[in-house]
Amino acid sequence: MRLIVVGSGIVGASCAYAASGLGAEVVLVDAGQPGRATAAGAGIICPWSSRVADPPWRALAYAAAREYPALIARLAGLGETDVGYRQVGALALAEGEADQEQIRQALLARRTVAPELGDVADVSGADAQRLFPPLRADAAAVYIGGAARVDGRKLAAALARAAVRQGAVVRDGEAHLALDSGRVAGVRLDGDLVEGDAVVAATGAWTRSFLQPAGLAVPVEAQRGQIMHISLGNVDTSRWPVVLPGASGHYMVAFDGGRIVAGATRETGSGFDYRITPAGLAEILEQALAVAPGLADGTYLETRVGFRPMGPGLRPLLGPVPGVAGLVVATGLGASGLTMGPLAGSLAAQAALGLPPALDLEPFAPLPGPPGPR
Ligand SMILES: Cc1cc2nc3c(=O)[nH]c(=O)nc-3n(C[C@H](O)[C@H](O)[C@H](O)COP(=O)(O)OP(=O)(O)OC[C@H]3O[C@@H](n4cnc5c(N)ncnc54)[C@H](O)[C@@H]3O)c2cc1C
Repeated sequence: MRLIVVGSGIVGASCAYAASGLGAEVVLVDAGQPGRATAAGAGIICPWSSRVADPPWRALAYAAAREYPALIARLAGLGETDVGYRQVGALALAEGEADQEQIRQALLARRTVAPELGDVADVSGADAQRLFPPLRADAAAVYIGGAARVDGRKLAAALARAAVRQGAVVRDGEAHLALDSGRVAGVRLDGDLVEGDAVVAATGAWTRSFLQPAGLAVPVEAQRGQIMHISLGNVDTSRWPVVLPGASGHYMVAFDGGRIVAGATRETGSGFDYRITPAGLAEILEQALAVAPGLADGTYLETRVGFRPMGPGLRPLLGPVPGVAGLVVATGLGASGLTMGPLAGSLAAQAALGLPPALDLEPFAPLPGPPGPR
């Protein structure tokens, strides 16, 4: 079985790793588009604090978070230890006691189906500041013990390397879907046909243009996210929790070596406009410094830009395409793709190889099926 995986962001790299582990001959192709979401993502793994109430979304996101530690351990067993992953917990900031109570109760209710979300506890403003020193002193919060963070760039690169060690071949360039009599024939790359029995479109925000020539209208749009990196110098930030300030959707994530990531903008309708804008920088700084004034004296490092792949709803688009044998779509992971990506990639691999997927993909059907009973 020869599988062509198009896109080596978190979804494609995970798919290539899973499929090559299942014995498939894998070709992993990437066009190196500027704005790959995986290279910009903050890396928060904490789906239990999300306001998304859709049951299939939750089932996928919670299962993905549950499986993360085992994936990280498997990669470590292959020598891939530098992926920026650590279970550091998270502080969901509250606006007053009633809000704190509501956040805690919601988390405790979700813990009945997702015990891996771990300890849930009220934290005073002083204790929150002890855990994440740049915070203002009155930022009371609810602590979520199971939350983690990961470096998307490093993880995707590690997964791709692991896939190569399992026999996958990596190719650079823009792939064009090749069809033959209603089924995939492979992809065209630099004018040549790279043959495959199946193709996984892990093409992120670019999925619409990848599939359009085949007459398939998969409704995925790019949503620009600008995100800032700030250094706190020699401060040991390696165990600081993720900070989730609530309504604004902005957050802060600490990595090793004094690096704090603050963001992010959510610019719906941006298209593929790969730019850092004054308005984006102002929004990030205003939100971050209002909650964590202690960041003001850090050193500005860089701002990254990524295009989140947004489907028509919040659900990912994941599974076989009806009427095109051998074609599987795996995209639309939106703002939670670093959380769901490894599992989504692995499910896409199973679907492409004709194996029963470990999770029901019906709710994630990328395109409506043909008319008639389903
Ligand atoms: C600022 C920001 C912050 C985020 N924070 C978080 C977070 O904290 N937690 C979380 O879970 N998620 C987060 N996300 C979301 C997450 O980053 C994305 O959902 C996820 O990375 C999407 O992965 P992907 O593999 O689908 O797409 P991408 O990473 O965009 O990869 C798609 C790849 O496909 C390639 N490609 C496209 N078309 C072709 C073609 N025709 N031929 C060859 N290659 C092609 C591109 O070059 C690209 O490399 C964030 C995103 C952004 C932008």
